[in-house]
Amino acid sequence: CGIVGYIGHRDAYPIVLKGLERLEYRGYDSAGIALYDGEQLNLCKTKGKVADLKAKFESTTSTKGHVGIGHTRWATHGVPNDVNSHPHYSNSGNLVIIHNGIIENFATLKKELVKRGYTFQSDTDTEVLVNLIEDVMINEKVKLGKAVQIALNQTVGAYAITVFDTRKPNELVVARLGSPLAIGIGENEFFIASDASPFIEFTSNAIYLEDGEMAVVRLGKEIKVRKIHDDSLV
Ligand code: GLU
Repeated sequence: CGIVGYIGHRDAYPIVLKGLERLEYRGYDSAGIALYDGEQLNLCKTKGKVADLKAKFESTTSTKGHVGIGHTRWATHGVPNDVNSHPHYSNSGNLVIIHNGIIENFATLKKELVKRGYTFQSDTDTEVLVNLIEDVMINEKVKLGKAVQIALNQTVGAYAITVFDTRKPNELVVARLGSPLAIGIGENEFFIASDASPFIEFTSNAIYLEDGEMAVVRLGKEIKVRKIHDDSLV
């Protein structure tokens, strides 16, 4: 269970893949990576090792994209299989998420979302969260950062998450409660990871989010760190 993210001028794939390899010590049963190349989402995930993911990704999926997120999963909700592996995406296909941790009230949230017409491919709590964020964005007409904050205020549980919106691929939104999350700051590029090991050769400038904090990480902007349980606009 580890997360990695990249946004910037380099190809995201090799950075995210190597990052996942460095987080392998944390233990996991599945792995996956999603990249956005400006036109399409290049997503591949599999039960098994990061080496299995690499083989599957490179034989089936384009590795293009300057924004990417990757995950190693330690299954809590839903058996370890390809579909339950992360990243997960919302019903519209616009929002993509990786998540370490547990959303304890996912069943209640899922019931509400099903009533509103949402469908689910996996058995995970994570797919519920990404659709909850989408629902908030649509209903409250807010940006991704604010939608993540509002959605997380409806959850009970523990998490480190990274989310992006393919319509706004210059931005990653991250949050943590109970699981670690570091942001590496480079020259017009950012790295996200469970610990600094995935980006150690690129930058020594890092922010470690405190429990209960979230951040909007946008190219060309200062990082804005906010409390999740707080009314301030993101
Ligand atoms: N609860 C999520 C799942 O089962 C995330 C597990 C993890 O921390 O890797 O998919």
